[in-house]
Amino acid sequence: MNPYETIGLPKIINGAGKMTYLGSSAIEPDVIEKMGMAAQGYVDMELLKPKIGKLAAHLAGAEAGCVTACSAAGIVISVASVLTGGDMYKVEMLPDVNWIPNEIIIQKGHMVNFGANIAQAIRLTGAVVKEIGMVTGTKEYHLLGAINERTAAVVYVVSHHAVSNGMLSLEQVIKIAHEHNLPVIVDAAAETDLLYYAESGADYVVFSGHKAIGGPTSGLIIGSEERMHNCQIQDKGIARMMKVGKENIMGLYFALEQYSRRNEEQQVAGFEKIANELQRLLSDVKGITTRIKWDATRPIPRVQLILGENCKLTGKQMISELEGGNPSIRTRNHLVDEGIIQFDPRELKEDELPVIAKRIFEILD
Ligand SMILES: *Cc1c(COP(=O)(O)O)cnc(C)c1O
Repeated sequence: MNPYETIGLPKIINGAGKMTYLGSSAIEPDVIEKMGMAAQGYVDMELLKPKIGKLAAHLAGAEAGCVTACSAAGIVISVASVLTGGDMYKVEMLPDVNWIPNEIIIQKGHMVNFGANIAQAIRLTGAVVKEIGMVTGTKEYHLLGAINERTAAVVYVVSHHAVSNGMLSLEQVIKIAHEHNLPVIVDAAAETDLLYYAESGADYVVFSGHKAIGGPTSGLIIGSEERMHNCQIQDKGIARMMKVGKENIMGLYFALEQYSRRNEEQQVAGFEKIANELQRLLSDVKGITTRIKWDATRPIPRVQLILGENCKLTGKQMISELEGGNPSIRTRNHLVDEGIIQFDPRELKEDELPVIAKRIFEILD
């Protein structure tokens, strides 16, 4: 029996994707088994964290790494490490930053809410957020003009939450930042390619352990030995309040090991099979059309339900009907204002597809 149902919470069919608010990923049984064993023993945590940081970073093509509680914590800790360097006095002083550099530059179109406000993650360290450009676009002169002796780093967000048009590219940001000896922190929380961002020259790359990697709730920062050391020592400061447990540290590593060995073609073929089957099951529903739409940057085919003029519900009503039933069917909703509801195949199981189709027929009949 689903343990969440035993405490009276509705069963979820997760067509939303790897969303933190739904518990992200279903963890593979052998990863769970190893995590269980890790949970039963003792380990010197001061040795464990850098050790797994390094092993995980090697799998992600970097020199060193720092395991965190999640990506949000990874952003906080990366910013903290930029502010403090290796100075333990400064580590303990945060968030009272009475020194410079203390400003973090971010493009306005990257000021996202990923469930919490990214500016708050930056401000939590005591840093000052300096937004550049407009939501309609950022130019190189915006970045160049904002850089001064107070500038500590640039944060760059890779996400469907961010504005995609008119922003400076990662390559532009890295080039300009590095010309001014400034590090670039990339929030790549949900990205599938673990190698690309570090290869591009980003100084800190932050991933969620529980999204693409499919592990337990956790995060990973990768970068140079020195920078990751400066992240690690935040455990004696503000990162103490963002602790990650031994079993999740190990779980992240086991999941990452599996992830890096995966056959991506086979995995994507599995997603396509789910998406095609759901599309087939929905082919006769009145008032909607369907199509498969691939993610802009990742190999994920999603089924889009496009609500027609004569559909008797609005997108928001449709979502609420799907959510309100038992099981509660969750969808990917950021295009709902355009009348599009999406099903992400990654966390859907084959036997859930007829349940979804039946419900949609019932709702629209
Ligand atoms: C999910 C997400 C986060 C937050 O990740 P957590 O690991 O849940 O803290 C941050 N940034 C982006 C772009 C995300 O997609």
